[in-house]
Amino acid sequence: MSGTVYLIGAGPGDAGLLTVRGAELLQQADCVIYDRLGTEQLLAQLRPDCEKIYVGKADSHHTLKQEEINCLLAEKAQQYSTVVRLKGGDPYVFGRGGEEGCYLHERGIAFEVVSGVTSAVAGLAAAGIPITHRNMARGFRVYTAHDKNGGFGDLDFSSMANTTDTLVFLMGLNRLQAIVQQLLQAGKSGTTPAAVISQATLPTQKSVKAPLCELVQAVQQAKLESPALIVVGEVVGLSAQLDWLQQRPLQGKTILFPQTGTDPRLPALLGSKGAKVQTVQVSCLEPVETAWESICKGAGAEWVAFTSHNGVESFFKAVSENGQDARCLGGTMVAAIGKSTAQALQRYGIRADFVSPVSTAEGFAAALSQEMMAGERLLLVCPEMELPECWAMENNPVIATPVYRSVPNRQAHSPALPPDGAVFTCASSVHRLAQLLHLPLKQFLADSAVAAIGTKTAAALQQYGIEPAVCETSDYPSLVQTLCSLFESDFTERGKNQ
Ligand code: SAH
Repeated sequence: MSGTVYLIGAGPGDAGLLTVRGAELLQQADCVIYDRLGTEQLLAQLRPDCEKIYVGKADSHHTLKQEEINCLLAEKAQQYSTVVRLKGGDPYVFGRGGEEGCYLHERGIAFEVVSGVTSAVAGLAAAGIPITHRNMARGFRVYTAHDKNGGFGDLDFSSMANTTDTLVFLMGLNRLQAIVQQLLQAGKSGTTPAAVISQATLPTQKSVKAPLCELVQAVQQAKLESPALIVVGEVVGLSAQLDWLQQRPLQGKTILFPQTGTDPRLPALLGSKGAKVQTVQVSCLEPVETAWESICKGAGAEWVAFTSHNGVESFFKAVSENGQDARCLGGTMVAAIGKSTAQALQRYGIRADFVSPVSTAEGFAAALSQEMMAGERLLLVCPEMELPECWAMENNPVIATPVYRSVPNRQAHSPALPPDGAVFTCASSVHRLAQLLHLPLKQFLADSAVAAIGTKTAAALQQYGIEPAVCETSDYPSLVQTLCSLFESDFTERGKNQ
């Protein structure tokens, strides 16, 4: 019995534009056969044992010919039960998904199609262009600018000249001049609004809008790169009102994040505000060899406290490696330093009994001591380091349980250019970034907006002469909000670090 091949559309580039069904299947996949564009982030979610095969098409020179891809799909369906063929946009919009489906059908191999968000529609929206609009465009036409002989084939330019439908050309950037020429020759007005959108929905998105007769020159000046969409029609004019993407507070800004753990939430949050996130993995987390012994020593404690997302992950890793599961906490009261740590616990089926309203060690310790009865013991899940003084609780014995340690990442490289902004989530990330740089930290961040998650992190930055904005509640959303407000308030006047 052969497996099933899923032809899945990955969407136009932004990983958030994959469908829920697509994401589910990717997580189950035994083998993924994929193209280029925007798929890298999606591949990070695959099972570690999933076989990944790249068959990308770098424009015209295909890495694998279509016939070879078809064979590969059939071959992998014999080997695995869930084979994913991941394609950019929608599999059936110039994606050759139909050909792959027919090939599989002929061989009696089961396949399913999981539609994707096509760049032909979503790419326009990301540049503020609705593909139809009442009283403006009653329809749209999507063309490929390449037929199999590399020409325009039977494209009917005179019918395109005589319609108010929005015209969208895919795979057309290197033929832009010819397309514009053909449209003008066929009688399309040179003043028709037009646009080229490059790398739509990705942090690198750029677009150019110009009247049709000026489009080629404008695109050359802007040095747009493929993949790109060409759009011709009155709807392009609406982007003056609808360019929501450009309104995002961090749009196009490079934001440096010296990261110590593996939590992807902060980069995702920054990205959702439009930032190009430059993550530098300054530290790596190592499990502490004696984690399980420490956990056992604390068995029977009335409370357990988690002080970070990393603590939760490392704790359950140790638990699972020792053949146990969340039931080892049965009957224990559970406390989390903040909402995001509480969410991490929920993934292991644990609802925290207490979530600290203030996400600093001091605030957490103080609030927790109010919750605990005198004499109750606390198993404190923490990194391997000297315990902050605040954990010397007056009425409760605290059993420190180090489950991970943070060590400098020897492979990390200094970021090449100073960023527009930077976020720091712990003091050690400040020191480790400073060690990596070829310039003093203050000089490197002289023109950058800098935000710190809490007062300890801010103090570390102050040691280097940097005065960051400090977020109030020490969580990621408010850290991002703090950074955004620096840009809103023209940080060059207030927060610049000179
Ligand atoms: N199946 C895809 C299209 C594949 S053809 C879809 O539904 O989107 C490849 C062409 O799609 C590219 O040459 C370009 O014209 C367009 N394209 C795909 N992703 C794009 C993106 N993020 N930005 C701009 N154009 C894109």
